[in-house]
Amino acid sequence: MNDLLDLFRKSGALLDGHFRLTSGLHSTGYLQCALVLQHPEHAEALARAIGERVADLKATVVLSPALGGIVIGHEVARALGVRAVFAERQDGALTLRRGFALDPGEKVIVVEDVVTTGGSTRETMNVAREAGAIVVGACAIVDRSGAKQGLDVPFHALLPMDVKTYQPDDCPLCKQGIPVVKPGSRAAK
Ligand SMILES: [Zn+2]
Repeated sequence: MNDLLDLFRKSGALLDGHFRLTSGLHSTGYLQCALVLQHPEHAEALARAIGERVADLKATVVLSPALGGIVIGHEVARALGVRAVFAERQDGALTLRRGFALDPGEKVIVVEDVVTTGGSTRETMNVAREAGAIVVGACAIVDRSGAKQGLDVPFHALLPMDVKTYQPDDCPLCKQGIPVVKPGSRAAK
């Protein structure tokens, strides 16, 4: 777990500081999985670790939501020796496109980069169930839900992560006069 955190910190995928998120909330940390996944060897290592935890679910296909889940989904599928498909939004609804199909009764595992509320995981699970497939589990690199994702299948995450967020007018870092930065700006480095 500490090795994993190191991987994130070294890639700049996990930053400590005082950030203004796109939601407008302030936070003490910033997480961007894409920055660790940009290194294929890291993506492969994370996926191997996920694969070990979910192997006994005996999934025969990985389903990921685009875009965040595609890279890690592909690598988890490699680790499990199964195929990888992804669902993407069309007119607001997550759907299988590009000729991707799931067979009725096929055992699906949903793979994501980050689970925050579990909403997108549930939506992805529904895509599989509507196709008649069986969702045997879900997994993610990072669980930011505080283990409150509330899924009705086994869920595994490599890294539980509790990044605190605050309303700007109630932010202890602002009160200490620490400058707030937008993640990705040079000042955040
Ligand atoms: Zn603040």
